[in-house]
Amino acid sequence: MFAMTPLPYDMSALEPYMSARTLEFHYGRHYKTYVDTLNKLAKGTRFENMSLPDVVRESYGHEEYQTLFNNAGQVWNHEFFWQSMKLAGGGLPPESLQTEIERQFGSFEAFREEFKKAALSQFGSGWIWLVRKDGKLRILKTANADTPLTAGLQPLFTLDVWEHAYYLDFQNRRADYADNFFEHLIDWQRAAMR
Ligand code: MN
Repeated sequence: MFAMTPLPYDMSALEPYMSARTLEFHYGRHYKTYVDTLNKLAKGTRFENMSLPDVVRESYGHEEYQTLFNNAGQVWNHEFFWQSMKLAGGGLPPESLQTEIERQFGSFEAFREEFKKAALSQFGSGWIWLVRKDGKLRILKTANADTPLTAGLQPLFTLDVWEHAYYLDFQNRRADYADNFFEHLIDWQRAAMR
């Protein structure tokens, strides 16, 4: 049985940058549906008593488990996304991470632009990640429910670019949603810890 992970803040804590109404739908409906569907699909199968990351890794790439993977991947990705944000987030990372970002992307602004470009160029639904790969920081795009977990990569934070994540607050303005995430929401302390 997979349980919903509680949000690390109140539904209204991220207002006005992410509305309670958005979280009520995103957490209370979309994410809940992924958890419920995962439980339904895993019941009575070898996935039933696995940890969520194991379900994601072991169902990945198998046609017969595609739907189960989609739901498990979405549960894991959303839990990571909830924990990528905080009240009064955004701004600059802790110094050591900031230095590393500047070294690898040229400047913090260049990094932010590249992340935003990735968000805008992800056609359709998906996720934008900052990951560590071979010791280096990379920006990664994944489509639909795909996740860096299956490639053994350690993400630092993610941005959900499924339309349901921003439509109520930003309608079709994904660029504004990405800017808002950088300016007010990213939990850099947690990203640095990762
Ligand atoms: Mn979502």
